[in-house]
Amino acid sequence: MSNLDHLFKQNAEWAERIKSEDPEFFAKLSEQQTPEYLWIGCSDSRVPANQIVDLMPGDVFVHRNVANLVVHTDLNCLSVMQFAVEVLKVKHIMVTGHYGCGGVKASMQNQQVGLVDYWIRNIRDVYYTHQDELEAIGDEEKRLERLVELNVMQQVANVSHTNIVQNAWARGQELTLHGWCYSIKDGIIRNLMNSITGPEDLSERYRLI
Ligand code: ZN
Repeated sequence: MSNLDHLFKQNAEWAERIKSEDPEFFAKLSEQQTPEYLWIGCSDSRVPANQIVDLMPGDVFVHRNVANLVVHTDLNCLSVMQFAVEVLKVKHIMVTGHYGCGGVKASMQNQQVGLVDYWIRNIRDVYYTHQDELEAIGDEEKRLERLVELNVMQQVANVSHTNIVQNAWARGQELTLHGWCYSIKDGIIRNLMNSITGPEDLSERYRLI
């Protein structure tokens, strides 16, 4: 007897509810997925991709990790991106951070957490790049908020620097990159930056095409 019976019960009720609204929903979805969006977000349980943009199963391809990082040696994230762009042909990639991110917060502290220190070190690089701006912010919470935003923008840049994205543009594929930040306090997503739509939006040094 599983002690997670309540989850199976909830699942059955959810599936029943979906079928009552659209009897063909699962039959259609089982044939193929055609999501227009790739969401790269934080693993934080309070930031579930589909729910906060009110999308159904099948609408968004999702990759989540601690502090929504796009690291060029991370085969997991790169594989998700390649499949999303080259096979599913998503039209948008949104990196979505969130205020109060524990991963970003940990990068602002001079202490060890464990293996995750190696992962979080990428955010320390973002801090270091923007050290002057960040240290001019006296309030610690506001400094964290700004680092969350800067981290998102750096990760969008990292997405744009991949050959996956740049080759898609070279093929004439429509692909737009976005940097968003979600507030757990009010449930609202803020758009942090102008979207990136092609290689002309990149610094020369990062252009592969
Ligand atoms: Zn987070």
